[in-house]
Amino acid sequence: MTQTSEMTETYEVIVIGGGAGGLSAALVLGRARRRTLVVDAGEPRNAPAAHMQGYLSRDGMSPTEFLAVGREEIARYGVELVRDRAVDVTRGEHFAVALASGRTVHARRLVVATGLKDDLPKVPGVAERFGKDVLHCPYCHGWEVRDRAFGVLATTPMSVHQALMVSQWSKDVAFFLHEITESDLSADDLRRLAAAGVKVVPGAVAELVTEEARLTGVRLADGTVHAREVLFVAPRAIPQTGLLERLGAEFQETPFGSYPVVDPTGLTSVPGVWAAGNAMGFSEQVINAAAGGYRAGAFINGELLLADLDATP
Ligand SMILES: Cc1cc2nc3c(=O)[nH]c(=O)nc-3n(C[C@H](O)[C@H](O)[C@H](O)COP(=O)(O)OP(=O)(O)OC[C@H]3O[C@@H](n4cnc5c(N)ncnc54)[C@H](O)[C@@H]3O)c2cc1C
Repeated sequence: MTQTSEMTETYEVIVIGGGAGGLSAALVLGRARRRTLVVDAGEPRNAPAAHMQGYLSRDGMSPTEFLAVGREEIARYGVELVRDRAVDVTRGEHFAVALASGRTVHARRLVVATGLKDDLPKVPGVAERFGKDVLHCPYCHGWEVRDRAFGVLATTPMSVHQALMVSQWSKDVAFFLHEITESDLSADDLRRLAAAGVKVVPGAVAELVTEEARLTGVRLADGTVHAREVLFVAPRAIPQTGLLERLGAEFQETPFGSYPVVDPTGLTSVPGVWAAGNAMGFSEQVINAAAGGYRAGAFINGELLLADLDATP
């Protein structure tokens, strides 16, 4: 590689992941005149949903349009974006990020905003209907399906919490025990389910029943069909944090998986590496992911400024 091409491949900041978290960090950094590259594999978590809810001033917007607008905004400030996947990262004088295309890019600071993947319960019909009438989050979709016939698929005893929560949006809730039994539930669980009017249905779920591309029921292994219009499920979250692991970042166990230890700015235990969005925490919704990216971008700018001033003789 010539010296010139090496120079052009060195950025002040590389943002890995171009969802709400990554684009928001990039917007702040671009506006702060930092030479910034976003590397994005283009598979945002909420791609199965037609609408994004609960983002003040953007409620109901299409997730695809939201990200397209974000990409336009960062381009105004000279931020580059490549559709590629970061496959490895090493730390030397600069961070070296190897991309799936074979290119290697370098930067002084990194933002990891790679999101998480939802590992769905392996019940026939769940994957096909996810984001439509098979849902995971009442804050994302509850209003749109309010008062319909809900089911909740239990995959762990923690599913009780979801069954109780969704009763805020419909009074017709059936809790399919599926992978648990009534003896897995505490006396408090059973009391709260009864108080919320949630019907407990024992037995494994065999498949979802659909008609004309919509959910109409839930079939149990014994063949009985329960008419339902909406099914809430709890996917297992798989944080996309392999690059942080490679850098030796410290992690902490949570009920929703292992996430990096970060300070209030999103700085991980690896100096120079920030995390934002669902790569940082399970409960980050789009608006929180964007806020975390913004905060990381602003702190990185300040840190680079001081680092350069302190290095000036
Ligand atoms: C069906 C569904 C509906 C939802 N609806 C809502 C809603 O209505 N409102 C709401 O607030 N939240 C909603 N959410 C949650 C929302 O998807 C997340 O809060 C949001 O996507 C988090 O943003 P992020 O930037 O952290 O991650 P993402 O949006 O997932 O973006 C991460 C990006 O990083 C890329 N990436 C990953 N690894 C790499 C790599 N190694 N190299 C390069 N790029 C990489 C991915 O391809 C992706 O483009 C929903 C989630 C689901 C599953």
